[in-house]
Amino acid sequence: MPFNSDTLNLLNDTLTGASIFWKEMSFRLCKHMQGSEFVDKNAIRQRIFTAYLAANPLCAVCKNKGRQSPATAVRHKINIADGGTNDWDNLAGLCSDCDKGDR
Ligand SMILES: [Zn+2]
Repeated sequence: MPFNSDTLNLLNDTLTGASIFWKEMSFRLCKHMQGSEFVDKNAIRQRIFTAYLAANPLCAVCKNKGRQSPATAVRHKINIADGGTNDWDNLAGLCSDCDKGDR
């Protein structure tokens, strides 16, 4: 059967939908397995940071000083090495200036 463009579009949509589905499933699995050494912790942290930035788009330091700057980085208030977690209350969004410590 030759593929016409409708068939190809349908196939592409199906594949895109499937890969989003599998990404979501693997993310859930990762969350479930968090703490296991088999999990790519950086990938999990990236997902958490991306979600955090979406919900907290402003720089926390600038906000305290009455300024509004878009946050571009997420930093831990207490470093993981010092016993901090990836929980949202241990995270702060920073603009690039504050992240560099310029302000
Ligand atoms: Zn800032």
